[in-house]
Amino acid sequence: VKEYSVDLKNLLGRVVPKDRILYKPEDLICYSYDACTVVDRKLPDIIVVPQKVEEIVETIKLASKHNIPVIPRGLGSGCTGGAIPVYGGIILSLEKYNKILAINQEEMTAVVESGVVTEDIKEEVNKYGLFYPPDPSSSKFSTIGGNVAESAGGLRGLKYGTTKEYVIGLEFIDGKGDVYRTGYLNSAENMYPDLTNILIRSEGTLGIITKIALRLLKLRENITTFFVCVKDLSNAAQIIGELRRLETLPSVLEIIDKTTIDAILTYKKFPVPAESRAFLLIEYDMRIDEKNLKKIFSANEALMVKKADNESEREYLWSIRKAISPSLVTIAPDKFNEDIVVPVSRLKEMLEFLEFLSNKYKLKILSYGHAGDGNLHVNIMINKKNKEDLEKVEKALDEIFDRTIELGGSLSGEHGIGLAKSPFLIKEFTFKELSISKKLKEYFDPYGIINPGKVLPEKLN
Ligand SMILES: Cc1cc2nc3c(=O)[nH]c(=O)nc-3n(C[C@H](O)[C@H](O)[C@H](O)COP(=O)(O)OP(=O)(O)OC[C@H]3O[C@@H](n4cnc5c(N)ncnc54)[C@H](O)[C@@H]3O)c2cc1C
Repeated sequence: VKEYSVDLKNLLGRVVPKDRILYKPEDLICYSYDACTVVDRKLPDIIVVPQKVEEIVETIKLASKHNIPVIPRGLGSGCTGGAIPVYGGIILSLEKYNKILAINQEEMTAVVESGVVTEDIKEEVNKYGLFYPPDPSSSKFSTIGGNVAESAGGLRGLKYGTTKEYVIGLEFIDGKGDVYRTGYLNSAENMYPDLTNILIRSEGTLGIITKIALRLLKLRENITTFFVCVKDLSNAAQIIGELRRLETLPSVLEIIDKTTIDAILTYKKFPVPAESRAFLLIEYDMRIDEKNLKKIFSANEALMVKKADNESEREYLWSIRKAISPSLVTIAPDKFNEDIVVPVSRLKEMLEFLEFLSNKYKLKILSYGHAGDGNLHVNIMINKKNKEDLEKVEKALDEIFDRTIELGGSLSGEHGIGLAKSPFLIKEFTFKELSISKKLKEYFDPYGIINPGKVLPEKLN
């Protein structure tokens, strides 16, 4: 607080009730985190928890007048440090800005405040026979605002796409405190160009997203789930390719490598044939030709095929996939979690390259992901206190990102750039391309107070 020439507590107390302004040391520490374990943390100066759009507007106006950074935050489940303050300032935590404002069964739409937990939206719209398809694994502990800011992907990406495919309108506040409504939330509806798509995946750097209009689908009912163990990565890649070419697409198509399954087994026991080296979780939400699927599995050396015949068996198969995150902490205290994406046809090459790097640097690298759309979560498990490990990770990461781009992929499939990947962005984009993003940022946020230090590399300034 002392770093600014103003008393933030008193200043913000004029626009937000005092019980929703946090500044105790323990609060500052808690809000200096997200799920990214590899970036240096700095404390915010203060946390504001708004419940009304006017409180957000007035906070931004005060911050722009006094040149104080404002960092929008959902639930801090981000994996790239996007909600971590780089230069101190105000954390604008949207956790209590969380009402579902409308569900229109006939139009199949919903309008929500940005702090609603994504799973709450899913459950609520289900009651109306409707379905919100994007399904990040973090849907129970991330907000829809955070999902839009990152265009979160998830398990259903192959068939249904990511968050951006379902956002049809936004309300947002720019760096001057001006409120804008786009698409479905604006009576004019069409804007030229459509600002909705500029705000999606802006990672909290262009403004604060306050309301979101979502497109919904009819609820799916015929769910069939399989867990398949195969002999090697080539078999897995072959099955993935064949399933993608069928008329009925799987709604979920996840791949898990052997090292990851070994990690899960230390945390949760379940039977897998000892000689299997790759695993697939496959789900359909339409009627399927089961015979044909089984033919594809056995033609590709499936060693075990488990099908869920009821909801509790389905939950059991899913619990294997969901055990990945908690089981990783049994391997090492720290992880570099990279969410690269490569064309599906190059997935096998990438996974083999990761195995090669793991041997080359003697690092534990665990890979799994949404194979259906080429999204891979590459987890390098280390102890950050070990300097030698850190140096090896640095080299391995450089090779991973170079190889990803060589294979026609991208640095981030869904977790965004934030703080952790910002230095690497120049590997993927030209200076000219990044300059457009910088100009856009300056236009939306002329005082440079909205989530400064994120996404665009420092070198650009
Ligand atoms: C175990 C685990 C599993 C995960 N699985 C997936 C997955 O399957 N798919 C996936 O895509 N991601 C996944 N993630 C990453 C993360 O959950 C997503 O990025 C999520 O969208 C972040 O939402 P949040 O509310 O926690 O946002 P935060 O972490 O609080 O913020 C993320 C970014 O969004 C900005 N932001 C947040 N709210 C707003 C707002 N209202 N307006 C403007 N900017 C805002 C922040 O400034 C920050 O830059 C996972 C994370 C964990 C820990």
